[in-house]
Amino acid sequence: MRNQDKADIITPLRRQYLEIKRRYPGMILMFQIGDFYESFDEDAHVVARELGVALTRKWFGKGQAHPLAGVPVRSIETHLAKLIHRGHKVAICEQTTPPGKGLVDREVTRIVTPGTIIEPGLLEGRANNYLAALIVAEGIAEHGAGRRAGFAYADITTGEFAVTEVGVEHALAELERIAPAELLLPGSAKLPALTEGTSEIRAVTRIEDELFEVKLARRALLDHFGVKTLVAFGCEDKPLAVQAATAIVVYLRDTQADALANLNRLQTYSTDNFMQFDPQTVRNLEIFQSWDFTGGAPTGSLVSTIDLTATPMGARKLRRWLRQPLLDLTELRARQEAIDWFFHREPVREKLRAVLDEVLDIERLFGRIRRRLAVPAEIVALAQSLRLVPQIRALLEKAKAPKDFIAALKGCEEIADFVARAITDRPPSDFERGNIIRAGFSAELDELRGGLTGGKDFLARLETREKARTGIKSLKVGYNKVFGYYIEVTKPNLKLVPNDYIRKQTITNAERYFTLELKEHESLIANAKERILELEISLYRQTCDEISRHSERINQVAATIAQVDLCAALAECAQRFGYVKPELCDNGEIVIVQGRHPMIEQRVPDSGSQTANNVDRSFVPNDTHLANHANSACQIMLMTAPNMAGKSVYLRQVALISLLGQIGSFVPAKSAKLGLVDRIFTRVGLHDYTLRGHSSFMVEMIETAHILNHATARSLILLDEVGRGTSTADGLSIARSVIEYLHNNPRVAAKTLFATHYHELTDVEEYLPRVRNFHLAVRECGNEVEYLHKVVPGRAEKSFGIYVAQLAGLPKPVIHRAQQLLSEYDGAALQSVDPMPDGPTHRQQTAGNARFPSLLASLAKLDINQLSPVEALTTLYELQKQMVELQ
Ligand code: ADP
Ligand code: MG
Repeated sequence: MRNQDKADIITPLRRQYLEIKRRYPGMILMFQIGDFYESFDEDAHVVARELGVALTRKWFGKGQAHPLAGVPVRSIETHLAKLIHRGHKVAICEQTTPPGKGLVDREVTRIVTPGTIIEPGLLEGRANNYLAALIVAEGIAEHGAGRRAGFAYADITTGEFAVTEVGVEHALAELERIAPAELLLPGSAKLPALTEGTSEIRAVTRIEDELFEVKLARRALLDHFGVKTLVAFGCEDKPLAVQAATAIVVYLRDTQADALANLNRLQTYSTDNFMQFDPQTVRNLEIFQSWDFTGGAPTGSLVSTIDLTATPMGARKLRRWLRQPLLDLTELRARQEAIDWFFHREPVREKLRAVLDEVLDIERLFGRIRRRLAVPAEIVALAQSLRLVPQIRALLEKAKAPKDFIAALKGCEEIADFVARAITDRPPSDFERGNIIRAGFSAELDELRGGLTGGKDFLARLETREKARTGIKSLKVGYNKVFGYYIEVTKPNLKLVPNDYIRKQTITNAERYFTLELKEHESLIANAKERILELEISLYRQTCDEISRHSERINQVAATIAQVDLCAALAECAQRFGYVKPELCDNGEIVIVQGRHPMIEQRVPDSGSQTANNVDRSFVPNDTHLANHANSACQIMLMTAPNMAGKSVYLRQVALISLLGQIGSFVPAKSAKLGLVDRIFTRVGLHDYTLRGHSSFMVEMIETAHILNHATARSLILLDEVGRGTSTADGLSIARSVIEYLHNNPRVAAKTLFATHYHELTDVEEYLPRVRNFHLAVRECGNEVEYLHKVVPGRAEKSFGIYVAQLAGLPKPVIHRAQQLLSEYDGAALQSVDPMPDGPTHRQQTAGNARFPSLLASLAKLDINQLSPVEALTTLYELQKQMVELQ
């Protein structure tokens, strides 16, 4: 009884809301009430918080108030963008019947989730927007070993759809590589543990477990593609891949059914064909995003530095290349050749790039047309871009470009011509105003429109006739949106108005009337207009469908343009920045002559910076020669130098050059011979992180362990200040044993660059043949020291702790005193400048005398980069006080 009572209190509106809401779990339901989209209950809290709108309450009948937050219907797009970017999923529920008495009908007309957005305003043009699915095989193995996983991803705006079946670890690496906007997981699966510091996946969507059932999944996939076997897609014998791909298909079917049409091919790929790198490497090499590592002038990411593409298709392709550097020499050489072709033809390249600049996002425009979501202006935009294709083709043909550049650039004129016949030149952005379909395209439409023009004649005739009948010379027949057609008579003539005129509206100096005849005409016209609009919309749909029939051709054109654009852009980059075509080989050697760091070399010096060595100077190129085939080769470069000497820049530059070489690009060097690298590992010490608190010694060791467990003899490893996160003695021992391990285990004998400021490590060279010491040259003039950023063989002669202190801006008196103390303790004392408080050298000295060494040691131990100004001052105060006490 009580329940019955309660149910009675629920108003029809509330009941309608709850019913619809129940059907869209995990989504924010935006519920249209008049001019607003309202959200209720839990949703209202989220909406109010995320959009910064007021949280109020709505009363449903007596005593029933529920939290409410809403946004105006007309500004829903901007608000949607915010919600999606925060990882929310939104169901838009519209009123589907006109408001009147009682409850209006409502229906969810659109579902927007981060991985399925298609609105140009919500998407980033130069990047793909991926929806991914991950399924891990059931099994006993808890961690990695042997467990397989299926991973699929799709971009519904471009039609890219790919799947792979690999070991769990690779699948996670793929997940991080693709960085999807939304990830689909079986309802019961655990969230994959991503590496710390990886860009988070914005939204995770759970799919019912049954949908991942293999047989059903296979069926669903066969149905979707309308095929009998999955052999052609390469995943017939990969059940996990099939399940993952199906998850995407099924999810789209339920949320964006029309998007499925865009996914008409599936590519099964193998991660074995690509260079691997971990998320740490992506971050450390600043491939897609730059971080302020050193606190110096800002630099761009690798992609922002080399991305000179002119079209969104080219830009997205560059990002795909960077995510998947190749291991196949033939493929790489083909890319090199294409870039080389443009490199040597500057005039063609320039003309071509000028045309490409005008080409819009063919891929995404077409995707929207195919789903009939495009507004008329988008069809015109597509046609305009397609019109440029013959120009591109002609340019390439004239220059005798390689065939595959030209082959696909065909037949687009026909499509553009068709659009030109169908659509007016500057169609309105909404359908309401009509005037979309061009005259001459449809006889039926022309006739209807003719009727309208006839109507205009009718009005002119009416005006002449009424003027004559009433004798009012100034009589006018007019039209306005609110009142429709009218006969206007100015005030002085009112007495001449005949009896059959019916008053409609009064304006300042005239009266407006209508007659039955005029009224009748008005409804005729209104009817005709309505029919015209209906017909226009239907013809518009047909036009969309007609264009869609050419999907293969348009997709090919888009793909070729992406390819041409990207190759020309990389050639442009090579010429502008002085890159050279590397010789790629498979012998494991890396020889770089005068290599440069692509981003740092373009850095604008920060004149406001205090450090004297950081003012305007051009980048110093450096050589590299790494190989692991013989004991005479240098497998491990051990770089010792103080802070700010250029170790990290050098390490990264070698990896970036390898990476660029393996996407087929030219590289910043005078010449380069690059043995293909199967994997790049990086481990960057605590010191270089600006993301403080994100790293710890534990993380550092986990990452190092990962490297030692996975590197092969074909890998490239950067170890930048490993062991920094712990006490000096620990750090030193770890660093030393890591080097020994890499040297002595043939399986992991990777080419390695090891940077450290521990001088004590340099003796490793004496007992490990393939380890070489290097340091960074400095120039001393008087008490000053200048970093030359030049990599030279051998160990550094001297430690420059005090100079670093000076460069960092410690006050002159402190520096002078430190120098004085240092000279008092030459030889062995020099060693104590190195931060090794518990080392044997140190103990010897303390036995010798006083607290100078400990004072010096604490000075040297100071991690200037980690100090806040206040901390620095306090420390300085302490140091000075102790010194004064000593004197
Ligand atoms: P370290 O790792 O040895 O502490 P970094 O590699 O971070 O030093 O380099 C410190 C700074 O020195 C860089 O920010 C850059 O300004 C400058 N630098 C490094 N290498 C070069 C170079 N080859 N040419 C010019 N400047 C360089
Ligand atoms: Mg460094």
